[in-house]
Amino acid sequence: MASPTATETPAARPLDPMALLNVSSAAVVGASPGKHYSTSVIANLLQFGLPAEKVMPINPKYDEIDGLRCHASLADLPGRPSLVVSLVGVERVDAVLDDAIEAQVPAMLVIADGYSEMGAEGTARQARLADKAARHGVTLLGPNSLGYVAPSRGVAAWVGGRVPERLTAGRVSLAFQSSGMLNLVLNQVAHRRIGLAAAVSVGNEAVMDLADFIRAFADDAETDVLGIVLESTTRPRALAQALLHANQAGKTVVVLSIGKSERGMKNVSSHAGRMATSGRVWSALFRQVGALVVDDLTDFMETVALSAGLSAEARGGGLALATISGGDCGLLSDMAENLDLELGDVTPQTQAILDEQLSRTNILANPLDVRNTRTSAPEVFWASLAALAADPNIATVALRLNLALAPTKQHEEMYTRVAEHIRANGAECVFTSRVTETSSERWFDLFAELGTPFLTSYDGAIKAFANLQHHRRDAHYINEDGAFTALPEVVAEMPEGQPLSWQQTMDWVGRTGMPFTRTVQAMSVAEAVEATATMTFPLVAKGIVPGVVHKSDLKLVELNIADVEDLEARVTALFERMAGLAVTDEVVVEIQEMAGGGAEFFLGMHSDPILGRIMSFGLGGIFLELLHDVAYAVPPVSAAQATALLQTLRGWDVLQGARGQEPRDVAALADVIATVSAAVAGPDSTVSSFDFNPVLVMPAGSGVVAVDAYVEGTK
Ligand code: ADP
Ligand code: MG
Repeated sequence: MASPTATETPAARPLDPMALLNVSSAAVVGASPGKHYSTSVIANLLQFGLPAEKVMPINPKYDEIDGLRCHASLADLPGRPSLVVSLVGVERVDAVLDDAIEAQVPAMLVIADGYSEMGAEGTARQARLADKAARHGVTLLGPNSLGYVAPSRGVAAWVGGRVPERLTAGRVSLAFQSSGMLNLVLNQVAHRRIGLAAAVSVGNEAVMDLADFIRAFADDAETDVLGIVLESTTRPRALAQALLHANQAGKTVVVLSIGKSERGMKNVSSHAGRMATSGRVWSALFRQVGALVVDDLTDFMETVALSAGLSAEARGGGLALATISGGDCGLLSDMAENLDLELGDVTPQTQAILDEQLSRTNILANPLDVRNTRTSAPEVFWASLAALAADPNIATVALRLNLALAPTKQHEEMYTRVAEHIRANGAECVFTSRVTETSSERWFDLFAELGTPFLTSYDGAIKAFANLQHHRRDAHYINEDGAFTALPEVVAEMPEGQPLSWQQTMDWVGRTGMPFTRTVQAMSVAEAVEATATMTFPLVAKGIVPGVVHKSDLKLVELNIADVEDLEARVTALFERMAGLAVTDEVVVEIQEMAGGGAEFFLGMHSDPILGRIMSFGLGGIFLELLHDVAYAVPPVSAAQATALLQTLRGWDVLQGARGQEPRDVAALADVIATVSAAVAGPDSTVSSFDFNPVLVMPAGSGVVAVDAYVEGTK
């Protein structure tokens, strides 16, 4: 599976990832006293719920391991375990799988490495292992996994050291392609008291992959929030559909997408045997499936903590901030503006209450400074917070109050009362710190008891709130139908695209629905002259040479041809120049009507090694060259989505008619993007890339027209 050329069709597997999580007994094959993996997994299994008699070490060399009775083989066990944890080395895994199949064990965790991360031989070995497990209905996790934990289900098959004791059950499920990162995050979630439903290191994804777990967590009644660390996938369509499914099930999916920089892509492809795709293209896909993408591990932790502590309705809803310092209000206002986080506008009624309570007119209501009112004028403090919380535009009140290294009894009482007060007045409550001011875990216990998220810095908090708000705002990008036929089912080596001939190009253009300027082909000067009988001057003549992408660079574009005489002269010159290019293939001249007054736009598609057909579009000129002002999307996109994507461009203002420019026909442009995207999204499309450049965007009401098309196909 981790090999892009694997031949099996993973979508057909009937295996249930939940077989790994619903476990009542576990055999640990290859257990050994004092060995890190063995000691870890046995201790974790015992600590998180399995009774001692249900944890069964298997090793013919011992009678007892870590105080548990040890058995010689799977066949010797008194009953059938629901999980086999295989700790043996790569050369012995096949035999363990055979035994597991023989014993009809439904789930197996494989820790060994030496598979797809080890080149062609390892890849083939992994494909054989996967094939056998899948054929016999064994839900296999790994190989090269550190395991998983599911605290609420009482199972912790984790070999990467002791799972932190403080880990609590809750409603967040994690699936990571990086096991080292999951180890870190397990410690973080335990420290911060973020409750987990499950956490899975997917390893090499031989049988169960990230998409399987995302889908399973989407359907899991115990999961509200998914945290995903993703490098790449071999099943793009299944991944997209699983992410969309989670979104449609009302869950927030927080994605940390790693290895998308140029240097990072090299690392990903070398360490996981996968190919890599640029970050901007991945981001386009995530937006279309409603996943929330974070920037780094801190952002991931804060956003997961916030999402997990808020109801689905409050996530991304109206936000009020309150602090006990005027300076902080200024800082928070600036930070919010920098990250494009909108703070809720309170109603005039709320404003009036705040003005009256705090004895100033037009006081800044959000962020609200309640400075020392808690001690000096408690009724003002409580009335102000009540007004904020009760405001219909405010779903969440986030407060920064006094923090100390460890909470005193007074702190605990005050925070408890504030949380209750905010809730009693109709809002959800979040606490934040300015920088990491706290060290005592007692703070996290307190906030866990109160059920209020605690964000550990202003940076992290503002970022997390902005993430949730933007995620909600971006819902209109989501491809609700979820067919994603343009995404490959299984990543495979793509055939090289070949340029289409002039006639093939024109035929294809006709089928896409892209309006194209009137164009005829001429093989001679006489044919060119003949063509003008049905065309309106001014005209354009272009020399078409197979494989030449930039005609202007070779002086093969003649614009503003005024009349027949002019045409004759310039087409003659064109043929002469083409003769000088020493090409053997047939050359032609195309005669076009000249379209005046349009803003130059481009609309293209390329074939990405992982995600397949990706559309891109934007204004030409400096917007493309200097600003790289390009929107990406997996086709198809609707006209409404195309409009939203156009709005993300810096060139949007130009299309709107900034600085004395005429407003452009954005509606026609969005329609055309949608039409063309639908034409290329089908599973049978053989076009691997195209470039309409330029598409001239005429003044509002006058439509768009393309004047140049370059197309490559795979057949
Ligand atoms: P290439 O991109 O291969 O250099 P184009 O066919 O795009 O050649 O032509 C170059 C430029 O000439 C276009 O970007 C556009 O500005 C202008 N142009 C070409 N054809 C037309 C046309 N029919 N109407 C108006 N302008 C045109
Ligand atoms: Mg061009």
